[in-house]
Amino acid sequence: MESTVAQKLDAIYNLQLIDSKLDAIVKVRGALPEEVQDLEDEIAGYETRLEKFQREIDSYEEDIKNLKESIKDSEKLIKKYQDQQMNVRNNREYDAITKELELQDLEIQVARKKIAEAGVKIDQKKLDLDDLEAVMQDRQKDLDLKKNELSTIVAESEAEEAKLNADREKSVKKVDERLYKSYEKIRANARNGLAVVMVKRGACGGCFNTVPPQRQADIREKKKLIVCEHCGRILAGVEDEIVEEKPKKKRTAKG
Ligand SMILES: [Zn+2]
Repeated sequence: MESTVAQKLDAIYNLQLIDSKLDAIVKVRGALPEEVQDLEDEIAGYETRLEKFQREIDSYEEDIKNLKESIKDSEKLIKKYQDQQMNVRNNREYDAITKELELQDLEIQVARKKIAEAGVKIDQKKLDLDDLEAVMQDRQKDLDLKKNELSTIVAESEAEEAKLNADREKSVKKVDERLYKSYEKIRANARNGLAVVMVKRGACGGCFNTVPPQRQADIREKKKLIVCEHCGRILAGVEDEIVEEKPKKKRTAKG
């Protein structure tokens, strides 16, 4: 069945109205899903850093534990050497044991110094960890708020969106196939998602450039498809002339 240009224009304009409403719904949540995602990524990054800090602290604590063990070992050796020193047979033996004692004493000093250093590092890491946890909690609060906001918005528009999608399915079936292809192409390139517009107050409803009177007259006739010579959008009608049109073609409610 061949439809007239007027019918084609009506069908494509109807689709545009539905798509514009769907665009508006998506636009309302627009930045939120992205913001939620960004915050989730940021928090995941903090968690990774927190785990790294914790591992570093654990490793310093392990070092301290080992150093304390080695001090105990040195102390045992010192005790042993001191006992041996009581029973030496000559100076050479005495001196050798003295050297061993000095060595173990030095080992203990080095270990104590390392324990102190590790303690300082642990304290610093714990401060870093506290700071990071504070920032993370802050972001988590932001995230919770935004998630709530998003789910509220989605819940509010869910029913409307479903209805519009159902309407859209019906509407698309009435649209000429070739016209639909150009519609999609124009829409993809238009910043405001408008591919089909009315002439309003003598100007294109998409780019607001003036449409010459003769062209407006042609558009009103709906004998052929006319696109805006400035932006390429399909001009579906002239809104100012609406009162002169047949009532059933009235479609000024939106736009
Ligand atoms: Zn235009």
